[in-house]
Parts: sequence; C-alpha cells; structure tokens
Amino acid sequence: MEPIRIVTPPLMANCYLLADERPAIIDCGGDSSFIVKALSRYLNPKEIEFVFLTHSHFDHAMASPDLKRWFECKVVMHEMEFELLKSGYSLFGYRFYVEPDFLVKDGDVFELGEIELRVIHTPGHTPGSVCYYEPNRKWLFSGDTVFSHGAFGRTDLPGGNSSELIKSLEKLSKLDVEKLYPGHEEPVENARMHILKALEIAKTIL
Ligand SMILES: [Zn+2]
Repeated sequence: MEPIRIVTPPLMANCYLLADERPAIIDCGGDSSFIVKALSRYLNPKEIEFVFLTHSHFDHAMASPDLKRWFECKVVMHEMEFELLKSGYSLFGYRFYVEPDFLVKDGDVFELGEIELRVIHTPGHTPGSVCYYEPNRKWLFSGDTVFSHGAFGRTDLPGGNSSELIKSLEKLSKLDVEKLYPGHEEPVENARMHILKALEIAKTIL
C-alpha cells in the first residue's frame, strides 16, 4: 500500500492518506470541505482514525478542528507545537485552534496495521515540527522541514530557528530513508540524497 497524495488548498500543502487497518492522514490542509470531498474518493472519511500533523501552520492543519468535530478522529501533534498553537500566533492573517488527542515527543510510535509511524522531532521551521518515519518501508513524511532537490523550510516565521533546522537536517540525514514525502511538491526517491543536499545548502546560507 502506497500513501495517497492529496494536494490541498489554500497553499497546495500535501495531505497523505494511509489507507491501512487504522486509516490515517498526515496533514489535512486548510479547507475542511475540500479534504472531506477528496478523501471520500478513497474511503468514508468517518473511518479516519488519526490526523497526524507535521506542524501547526494553517496550510497544513487548519482543517483539523472540523475533521475532529465531524468524524471524531484523533489529532496528533508534538507537545511543543501545541505550546505554539496555544500562544494564539497568526500566520498571514490565519489563526485556528484544535485540541490535540495525542501530544507526542521524539521516538513515539503509532501502529496503523501494516504501517508503523515513528515521530521524529525536527524543530527549526517551527519549535514542534515533526517528521513521521516508516522504518520498514523507509518512508519519511517531512512536512515543511525538508523538501526535494535541496529545499528546506523557512525559519523566519513565528518560532523558527535556523540552527535548530540545521541540526534537524543532520538528524534526518542519519536515517535510512528511500522515499521522501514532503509537505509541498512531489514525493521523490533517493530521499537521503535530497536531505544531504538540503543540509549542505542550509549550512551555507542559514
Ligand atoms: Zn509550514
């Protein structure tokens, strides 16, 4: 089973559907009616058990309060990201709030059936940014921490930190990863090469 990529409004963030025994999505975008309609092509959205958030930016997460209210799915985020969200920060004029069901930290593991997701804390883009790693399939869902072709998340938004981002890229570069599922743009093979390139560029310009 491969992750199903759904490109979401308003800023074309990727949502990944993992249609396992316990169906889950990684990020949900900012438009709840759009994501419900898109998910309905693959399953009954009521079946979604988890909404794993890579971070709290509106373009990745603003649909989560509606999904939780409508379908009682469990919202997962890093404990430090919840602190940021609770601070009531706004980004480009957008602000929302969701009560997480699971506050996670580095190393936490979720079993979805065939798929296992391990939380990797990768601060820098935001304080509680995380990547979700599938060690058996060598997948990395990287949110806005790292993208393909040497791109990485910006660090000039609330809670951003350049030296932490570099450390996070170093941490990711040590993982055995083959496929990178970033928070924007297309997934790519040879994930480690893309991560190493991002690390090299980040060290040069940040
Ligand atoms: Zn972001």
